[in-house]
Amino acid sequence: MFNAQMIPFASSTRLRTWRATRLVILFRDPVCNVCHKAASTIADHIIAARTYIARHGGDPSIFFDENNLQGVCKACHDAKTAKECGWAGGAGR
Ligand SMILES: [Zn+2]
Repeated sequence: MFNAQMIPFASSTRLRTWRATRLVILFRDPVCNVCHKAASTIADHIIAARTYIARHGGDPSIFFDENNLQGVCKACHDAKTAKECGWAGGAGR
């Protein structure tokens, strides 16, 4: 599940925004974008949020950019998180 600590600039307003964004992503990608089998339960940053924000001049609102979010199942999210270092370079889609 989503961990508030993932948002370095967390506030109640941003958490509300995130929850709304997550619902949009899960509605758009009801099936996991990685395995294309399981139902999506997590809105995942395609490019690590910190990297993506830095690329956009540090604009924190880019954290919620739907173009950098995809719906994934927990198994795929956990697998990706485990090798997050490899993703930080920005493999993209
Ligand atoms: Zn999956």
